[in-house]
Amino acid sequence: MLIHDAYLQLSMSPKEYIEQIDTYEYSTREQFINKLPKVVISRCPLCDALYTGPIDMHTLWDWRYVLDSPPLPRDPHFYTEGKFESVGCDHFFTVQPFLNMNQRIPSEMDEFVNGFHVPFVSDWMVPDNRSVIAVIHSMAVCRLEKSDGTAFDFYTAEFENLPQTLDGMEERSYRELHPIDMDMLHPHLADAKFVPRYTAYAITYWGEKTDRDAIYNAKMQPQIANMDREDSPFDLIWLSAMPVKKSDPQYDLRTWVERGKLQWLDITDDGLPLKSGTVEEFPYADIPFDQDTAGRVWY
Ligand SMILES: [Zn+2]
Repeated sequence: MLIHDAYLQLSMSPKEYIEQIDTYEYSTREQFINKLPKVVISRCPLCDALYTGPIDMHTLWDWRYVLDSPPLPRDPHFYTEGKFESVGCDHFFTVQPFLNMNQRIPSEMDEFVNGFHVPFVSDWMVPDNRSVIAVIHSMAVCRLEKSDGTAFDFYTAEFENLPQTLDGMEERSYRELHPIDMDMLHPHLADAKFVPRYTAYAITYWGEKTDRDAIYNAKMQPQIANMDREDSPFDLIWLSAMPVKKSDPQYDLRTWVERGKLQWLDITDDGLPLKSGTVEEFPYADIPFDQDTAGRVWY
C-alpha cells in the first residue's frame, strides 16, 4: 500500500468541486472551506484529544500559494486559531503542514509555490527536558483525471495531457479561473475521478503549557518581536528553521521516533490511534525529496 493512498476523504463529486471553483471568490472562501471534509489531523500524545479540521484532498487547488494576491485566511497553514478547526484539549502548540509531490510535477496548477516538501522535526521545538512531542499524520491529495490519462488543468480549465517536466512552465502565469465553460466540461466531469497523486503531512506539536511557554519565550518571542505585524509569525519562523541539506538530522524522522519525540497516527486502523516507539512500524522513514527528471528540486 502506498502511503498517499491510505487516508483519503472526499466530500464533493468532480462536478460539485469544479462548480465551487467556478464561483470561487476570496469573499466566498469560507463557503468553500465549509464544503470540505473535516478530518482528523492529529491526536494529543498527552491526553488523546483530537485535532480536526477541513482539508482539501480533492486537488491542489486549496494548497496553492498565489503570489501578489490578498492573503488567504488560512494559507499556507491548516490552522486558523480555531476558526475552522477543533482541538479537544489545551496541549496544542502549533502545526506545520508539508506537501510532498511524490516526485511528480504539479503541472495542472499555474504558479504553484510549495514551501515545505519533506517533513522535519524542529530540534528546538522538542528539547529533551521538555514535554513537547511531535505527531505526524499523512493525507492523500488528488488530481482530477479521466480514464484516458488527461487531467483537469487549472490553467486552461480543460482536460489536458499534462507536461511532466518543468520545461515551458515558466511561461504560465496566474490568471483568474473565470469563466469555466461548465457545459463543455460536463461530459468530461462525468467520466473524471479524483486520483491520489500527492501526500500532505501535518506535524503537530503538543506539550504542557509551562514547556510551551518556555520554548516560545526562548526561541520564538525574540524573532516575533522583529517581525512586521502583517507577517504570520509561524510561517517566517518555519522558513528560517527549514533545514536546507537533505542530510540534516532534523529530517531523520526514524531517530525522532527512537528518541520518543515523534509519534504517528496509525492509518491502517480506522480509529487512527497514536503509535510510538516501534521504529519498525514507522511508515514515514523514507519520504522522497521532490525533483524533476533533470534533478531540479521543485520549489
Ligand atoms: Zn491534550
